[in-house]
Amino acid sequence: MRAIGVFGSGAPSRVLCLGAHSDDIEIGCGATVLRLLEECPKTQFTWVVLSATPEREREARSSAASFLVGAKSADIRVERFRESHFPWEGSRIKDRLAGIAREIDPELVLTHWRGDKHQDHRTVAELTWNHFRDHLILEYEIPEWDGDLGRPNCHEHYNPLTGQACVYRGIDDYMHSWVIDLIIRGVAGVEPSAAALRVDPLPMAIEEAHLTGLRVRGRRVEVRRAGGQVRVDVDGTTHEARVGEPLGIGW
Ligand SMILES: [Zn+2]
Repeated sequence: MRAIGVFGSGAPSRVLCLGAHSDDIEIGCGATVLRLLEECPKTQFTWVVLSATPEREREARSSAASFLVGAKSADIRVERFRESHFPWEGSRIKDRLAGIAREIDPELVLTHWRGDKHQDHRTVAELTWNHFRDHLILEYEIPEWDGDLGRPNCHEHYNPLTGQACVYRGIDDYMHSWVIDLIIRGVAGVEPSAAALRVDPLPMAIEEAHLTGLRVRGRRVEVRRAGGQVRVDVDGTTHEARVGEPLGIGW
């Protein structure tokens, strides 16, 4: 078994991307491909789409070419296996993958997730494991009609609009809401309810924090904690307490 880092100094120099249909690779692991290229532009890519009509083949080739701009080499292959019938085309697909495995010996294989309910995706995944036995294989998910989101064991966070890798576990992605929630509820201690505004900041080693411009039930709220003191202004009325003594301010 080869030990290899996916990004950074151990990045693979030869990557094989496998997709049953045109656009599977882009949807399933496009951002990962872009990140690999960003961090390791010397990577050689082999991009294999196993089925496509002539029209979809044109799309697949042009899309793959734009994803692989900057790669050391981009070998884009589009095959003509019968879409939706991969389990029954399995023998021919198996032969083709065996040939690719002998030919390019990739250091990283990106392929479909083996638990995918789509028969074509699943067949490609199963055959990948048959033929790349001492290679690093990462499976990607195509969330589709079958709602087959499984239990992935690693995640990568990307900004859904820009495709850029997130700075910290998705802090600049959709996960930002829980970070903001931690600051508002934990650092400032703001916990509104229908009856009252409760302010009870966590006793952390924070010298000073100031939350301003907050609108709660139509009121303008400002919280300032400094040293062990908390000061809360609600529409200009000030309430004070020590950290650790919850403030309850009725509406
Ligand atoms: Zn597909």
